[in-house]
Amino acid sequence: MSLSFPLHQNPSPASAQRRAEILANPGFGTYFTDHMARAVWRPDGGWQDSEIVPFGPILMHPAAAVLHYAQEIFEGMKAYRHRDGSIWSFRPQANGERFARSARRLALPELPVPDFMASVEGLVRADQVWVPDEDEYSVYLRPFMFASEPFLGVRPAKEITYMVIACPVGAYFSGGVKPVSIWLSTEYTRAARGGTGEAKCGGNYASSLAPMVEAAEHGCEQVCFLDAAEGRYVEELGGMNLYFITADGRIITPALGTILEGVTRGSILILAKDLGLEVEERPVEIREWQEGVASGAITEVFACGTGAVVTPVGRLVWEGGEVTAPKAGVEDSVTMRLRRHLLDIQYGRAADPYGWMTRL
Ligand code: PMP
Repeated sequence: MSLSFPLHQNPSPASAQRRAEILANPGFGTYFTDHMARAVWRPDGGWQDSEIVPFGPILMHPAAAVLHYAQEIFEGMKAYRHRDGSIWSFRPQANGERFARSARRLALPELPVPDFMASVEGLVRADQVWVPDEDEYSVYLRPFMFASEPFLGVRPAKEITYMVIACPVGAYFSGGVKPVSIWLSTEYTRAARGGTGEAKCGGNYASSLAPMVEAAEHGCEQVCFLDAAEGRYVEELGGMNLYFITADGRIITPALGTILEGVTRGSILILAKDLGLEVEERPVEIREWQEGVASGAITEVFACGTGAVVTPVGRLVWEGGEVTAPKAGVEDSVTMRLRRHLLDIQYGRAADPYGWMTRL
């Protein structure tokens, strides 16, 4: 039987005035909506106690396994308001399926996709007043699951908590799209074959923080990781997948295996084919990027993910050199066309022939 998430109204939600102040300038990840979804898993009885409750802090036992061994996964997706006032999400089932794959890798119990959907729908319905109507604003949804069992032995926990929280977010680029600069990390790697690179688990992000600091020290905004085995192939950024566009009309993205299978990445593979580009999903040598941009064989590089949708990449900086993609952010670039196309589908301004949008 699938879960239902009955609503327990927050007796003191944010006032309409406070909400309007937040929605006028939401930023990212600082302000949260009035409710949150919650369920608990125990070996006897599986998923239970599912409900939508007032948003607030949770009490954790100091021995909760997640605090010690990081048995935890999460997802990231958005709810968009269309011009007619309806609220939609972009391929939420794909996030639900990825959440289940991440669960398997972290020895967590899978939450069936219909239950994942019910939790997200229940929360968005309860907090629909929080979904902004400004262009490119949205509500970011953060489903997550963690080992809440108080036990210090190293084994899969026997009590797991699942939650969904939500925060209004503004346009990623408030002053117009700006190319990002990237630091090539050769000191650190993100994931090895057999590791957790394909899972969306907190540990992957904890280990990306030191390289991010290194990137900032080199004047860059993001980090690019190379493969752990040879340090020769481009993997992905700390929180986005990468694409390369060649002068002869091909669009190339690193193959799956040790990277996160981005929902945006997968959608662009489909859109690009329909735009008449020849798509290649294969190992990409870092040399190809460095030499391709320098010689003009690669005309555009972009990063993609739920947060920034599609972001042109300008500079690539490494120990001892750098190159800058010349067409980064130019209006008629393939990057910007793909960006507009995706946003138009997400905000209901373009037809959705792929059936990607789900009404919440
Ligand atoms: N790679 C990593 C490491 C990420 O954290 C994300 C963001 N979830 C992505 C790629 C992009 O994935 P998506 O398009 O599903 O947001």
